[in-house]
Amino acid sequence: MTDHSAQTLHIVGGGMAGSEAAWQAANMGVQVVIHEMRPKVETFAHQTGNLGEMVCSNSFRSDDDEQNAVGLLHWEMRQANGLIMTTADQHRLPAGGALAVDRDPFAETVTARLKAHPNVTVSYEEITELPADGNWIFATGPLTSPELGKAIQAETGAEALAFFDAIAPIVYAESIDMSQAWMQSRYDKGETEEERTAYLNCPMDREQYEAFIDALLSADKTEFHEGETAGYFDGCLPIEVMAERGRETLRHGPMKPVGLTNPHQPDVKAHAVVQLRRDNALGTLFNIVGFQTKMKYGAQTEVFRMIPGLENASFARLGGIHRNTFINSPTLLDAQMRLKRKPNIRFAGQITGVEGYVESAAMGLLAGRMAAAEILGQELPEVPQDSAMGALIHHITGGAEAKTFQPMNVNFGLFRPVDGLKGGRRGRKDRYKAYTDRAKAAWQAWLSNFS
Ligand SMILES: Cc1cc2nc3c(=O)[nH]c(=O)nc-3n(C[C@H](O)[C@H](O)[C@H](O)COP(=O)(O)OP(=O)(O)OC[C@H]3O[C@@H](n4cnc5c(N)ncnc54)[C@H](O)[C@@H]3O)c2cc1C
Repeated sequence: MTDHSAQTLHIVGGGMAGSEAAWQAANMGVQVVIHEMRPKVETFAHQTGNLGEMVCSNSFRSDDDEQNAVGLLHWEMRQANGLIMTTADQHRLPAGGALAVDRDPFAETVTARLKAHPNVTVSYEEITELPADGNWIFATGPLTSPELGKAIQAETGAEALAFFDAIAPIVYAESIDMSQAWMQSRYDKGETEEERTAYLNCPMDREQYEAFIDALLSADKTEFHEGETAGYFDGCLPIEVMAERGRETLRHGPMKPVGLTNPHQPDVKAHAVVQLRRDNALGTLFNIVGFQTKMKYGAQTEVFRMIPGLENASFARLGGIHRNTFINSPTLLDAQMRLKRKPNIRFAGQITGVEGYVESAAMGLLAGRMAAAEILGQELPEVPQDSAMGALIHHITGGAEAKTFQPMNVNFGLFRPVDGLKGGRRGRKDRYKAYTDRAKAAWQAWLSNFS
């Protein structure tokens, strides 16, 4: 292994997050070594030995920095001279409002820019342990090598490291029709009023349930990628697989109607009930409990809008099940993305429980700057929660519900509401503009801490 001097920053993984982290730290004057296992050790999804390789789609999604949270993240990263964004701009392809790129030249340029940087060295090797000393960022992504996965698990405990995500769809609270839904925990369980009303319930009669099962059975589904195991964990079977096992299975599982009374129709017993649970401390997002799925995105919106109360639902993210290594960041990491038990180690990228190229690069950008500031002895104020960067890091390191923690895309549901603005669909345009204006000002103020 290369230089272990106290001032060197070691970054494991040269993907979206690791490449960005290296660039940011190197630009602050810190010596960086990127340890990348490819091309010596391969993953099932990567095709090359390039740094910053896009493993699937060639899109960084919406580039609209006024009305879209991911577009806002692009803007914030550009303001911070982000390697991933500035290189994406260089290799942009026409794609309407989206930022799509020519993937091979993109990754070749990311690699070339890092290799040409006087403060960056690339060491092609697999790292299989969490070192006890030195400054480290682990940005090994959803396909972290199995040996390193074992070492992380030994440090964090089996409960705190997942090898799959089983994502239930997440709905914006404001888009749920509360004239049909109601808040109540099963059998009114709980010590406090908040606990007794922790779930949001959507009732179905027999006819609605039967139609829902038919729709689940006939919906378009995605298959696992080659090389991903198709074995599901107990307890996270996709709902459509549960439905295939018998038409009544869901009614005896996540959709059981017991212990609940519909205040809108107290005399009518629901045939089935879909439950949603708060997904963030702000109460702006709700996940549909037990509804992890392999249905295609188009099919999901169609099928889930059949649920009474969700006819006009807007989704912060749709469901999925993928091979994905990620840690329980809300319990394991401090606000600076350091492992609480081993603060010489930071995590960044998808392994921290964000989802997507842009979000991964964004967390790399923060981790790189934070690690460099620590090495240089600079104090950094907390990343402002009102910026897109801040909303995301705050979510993974504290705002998210640790027990049900699953990877998250950036979305406006993670932002604190702006006072005095209209809720609902009508006020959306103004609200999003207010979020993005506030975010930009907060982010620029934070960046002014770096000379
Ligand atoms: C199959 C698949 C498809 C995806 N498709 C999309 C998509 O279309 N759009 C999207 O936005 N997101 C997608 N994602 C999610 C995610 O955004 C990307 O995986 C993204 O690249 C994550 O960035 P990262 O830096 O965290 O990880 P990566 O970009 O995967 O980088 C991690 C790097 O660490 C290296 N590494 C792993 N273990 C070790 C080790 N022990 N030692 C040294 N190096 C190691 C890997 O070789 C890799 O280069 C997909 C994920 C997967 C698995």
